[in-house]
Amino acid sequence: TDLTTASVIELDDAWGAHNYHPLPVVISSGEGAWVTDVEGRRYLDFLSGYSALNFGHRHPDLIRAAHEQLDRLTLTSRAFHNDRYGAFCRDLAALTGTDTVLTMNTGAEAVESAIKVARKWAYEVKGVAFDAAEIIVAAGNFHGRTTTIVSFSDDPAAHDNYGPFTPGFVTVPYGDAQAVRDAIGPNTAAVLMEPIQGEAGVVVPPAGFWADVRATCTENDVLMIADEIQSGLARTGTLFALDHEGVRADLYTLGKALGGGIIPVSAVVGRGDVLGVLKPGQHGSTFGGYPVAAAVGHAVVDLLATGEFQARSTELGAHLHARLGELVGHGVAAVRGRGLWAGVDIDPMYRTGREVSMALRDQGVLCKETHERTLRMAPPLVISRDEIDRAVDALAAALQA
Ligand code: PLP
Repeated sequence: TDLTTASVIELDDAWGAHNYHPLPVVISSGEGAWVTDVEGRRYLDFLSGYSALNFGHRHPDLIRAAHEQLDRLTLTSRAFHNDRYGAFCRDLAALTGTDTVLTMNTGAEAVESAIKVARKWAYEVKGVAFDAAEIIVAAGNFHGRTTTIVSFSDDPAAHDNYGPFTPGFVTVPYGDAQAVRDAIGPNTAAVLMEPIQGEAGVVVPPAGFWADVRATCTENDVLMIADEIQSGLARTGTLFALDHEGVRADLYTLGKALGGGIIPVSAVVGRGDVLGVLKPGQHGSTFGGYPVAAAVGHAVVDLLATGEFQARSTELGAHLHARLGELVGHGVAAVRGRGLWAGVDIDPMYRTGREVSMALRDQGVLCKETHERTLRMAPPLVISRDEIDRAVDALAAALQA
């Protein structure tokens, strides 16, 4: 084709809403950990579609599942049963050790669904006074972009001028178990947090935080909701990031990688008695659990059930963190994270996150800053050790450039 990077970006800018600030690279194909741009340059993908591409681009099992389903049946709506939904739910529940699966499409919808379920449970089961339910959330959170979700975001870019806002949320500092305990009252329905905060810069809470929150929730009959949309599904070396803490949530929200980077698939999974507050007609989505989603999601569940990706993330993640650790003091101020997931704070004496992202692009590695000074590194879990070395070497060079 005669497409060029410049001509495509011109089109995007002319016709698309300007709600993102992408790196100037135009990707036209992808395979595994690699993508190719319209001019034929190849790049290592170190973002993985914000962790939606945990299995890499176009994993053959997932592509096969999608193709087979597309050739048979795409959509029924939940007005009827389809022959793919139930088995997907069964195997997702088995994988996650949960009773019940509520299927939706995007991450934000899964979070919205969990909020609705928690409130309904508070009124109908816990006995909270009508319209008084509170949900405790963390400072620095990111759970999506709907009006209710941005109501409890403290990021001005996500929040400002979208009011009037949804009430019923109480914000506490992230990682402070005592603050969670202090915030709980008779009207508390749930604690909703990311086990590791992704958009905030891959922020890992102090050891013991989650065990404390779990104990507080149990003592006070409060639901613990773990948003594992970015942290879950093998990204950190375990199925859930919470597994590192030996803690179970009452509800988990899942998305991103659940659709294999092919289609949007999200879910709330967890306690059957809690999700059981939903009765016919009280919640739903035209596409939630549709046959294509169930087919691709099921193939994702099958990949995760092998444990292969969790093991890769653990092993290669240790290598990534060891290599990144060498850069601390050489342009990097700090590195956080777990498994193949790292927040790399760029030393403010050097360059901004954007400048480093651009310099990395020039060296054939794609990743993106989150906030001013932090790079988020999240390669597909199919990446090799050599490819990690190549990316870290590129980062070292980019910092000095
Ligand atoms: N929750 C978390 C923890 C996320 O990281 C994200 C997306 O980045 C979302 C929810 C929202 O997901 P989506 O963009 O699919 O609505």
